[in-house]
Amino acid sequence: MRLRNVKGAKDLINSYPKYIVDILEDTKLDLSEYNKNNLPVHMEIGMGKGKFVHTLAKLNKDVFYVGIERFDSVIVRALEKVIEEPLDNLLLLRFDAADLRDIIKPSSVERIYLNFSDPWPKVRHEKRRLASPTFLKQYKEVLVDNGELHQKTDNQSLFEYSIISINNYKMTITEMYLDLHNSDYTGNVTTEFEEKFKNKGQRIYKLTAKF
Ligand code: SAM
Repeated sequence: MRLRNVKGAKDLINSYPKYIVDILEDTKLDLSEYNKNNLPVHMEIGMGKGKFVHTLAKLNKDVFYVGIERFDSVIVRALEKVIEEPLDNLLLLRFDAADLRDIIKPSSVERIYLNFSDPWPKVRHEKRRLASPTFLKQYKEVLVDNGELHQKTDNQSLFEYSIISINNYKMTITEMYLDLHNSDYTGNVTTEFEEKFKNKGQRIYKLTAKF
């Protein structure tokens, strides 16, 4: 069972306003206050414990990374990484990406990553899938023209659903790997979930798409 309320998580989150913002109903966010050098913004939605964005932010100082995660109990693990190794080009946001448009300005993001998103297999939960039309509509607004959506997953059904959803939304798939770890793709940065699946020998799917 996932613990949504880890003792002390809120206190820890509120102690580091430079690294993390807890988005509440009345929170207004101006990313330019954090992204002082006006770097291109790349965002991971459903970041989990943050290994992926934290690693990318270390590797690419010319990009400003935003990691979004809705659960306090999970995002504090990402915050611990930033406390241990602070980075100027990484901001963590605790909120539900269902409200993305309320928080992120239109045409302000160059790239969105969806890594190992919850598959929500039941049809009645389709709207919660991060590649559902409800989310794609929001991504279209916040992404710049030619902005990219990158998805990785171990879940074949979610991958197939995403391809159909992206295609129905008239997006173009520009890159696809059906077995990423046994492909010629170079420079892959793994996530926490990816490491687990890799160790079990599971196949990883990846696609990139544009509106
Ligand atoms: N991306 C990480 C990885 O690959 O290790 C975590 C994967 S985990 C299966 C999915 C994460 O997405 C969970 O931590 C969940 O809380 C988060 N998540 C799911 N829907 C979300 C939403 N609408 N807004 C923000 N976070 C979300």
